[in-house]
Amino acid sequence: MEIITTPDKRLRETSEKVRVIDDEIRDVISEMRRLSLEWEKEHPYELSAAMAAPQMGVLKRIIIVRDDMENKDNATFTALINPEVIRAEGKVKTDFEGCLSVPSVYGKVPRPTKVRVKAKLEDGTEVRIKATDELARTLLHEIDHLDGVLFIDHIRDKADAFYRMNDKGELVPIADYEGEIRDNLELWGEE
Ligand SMILES: [Zn+2]
Repeated sequence: MEIITTPDKRLRETSEKVRVIDDEIRDVISEMRRLSLEWEKEHPYELSAAMAAPQMGVLKRIIIVRDDMENKDNATFTALINPEVIRAEGKVKTDFEGCLSVPSVYGKVPRPTKVRVKAKLEDGTEVRIKATDELARTLLHEIDHLDGVLFIDHIRDKADAFYRMNDKGELVPIADYEGEIRDNLELWGEE
């Protein structure tokens, strides 16, 4: 399998709930881990923080989240099955987000800074997660994928919102976001 990117229509679909955690599901999860790390090898300045199953064209409600977002050498991920946001609260903060499925574009996205999420682990255990700041942002971003929502959808004020990573690993503003994003990358779906 491979990571799919915009404008692939599968990124805009709603994924279905996982009923039974069987070998097929476990295979999907290991493929997600493999693809995340493969992507990271090709992107020296970036860390693969998380991924959702629809990003490889599998429309099931599964995400994986990196256990340590600071350290590239720690490459373990926790899989969350049927994750659900129970509550999103706290101050809304705007910060940069990128996405494996939206190549080389970064955007400033407003998100609540506190979330409660319920999900199942790979072994079927039900968990409730209280997350803040970066982890909250990551969970919201990934759970959005399960409903066909991309980070760019949350950006209302499009001026000064989009950036690209240059070959030195620096984020530089995309001046012509209308031309570059709307037309060439077709990020805006059916609008
Ligand atoms: Zn994403």
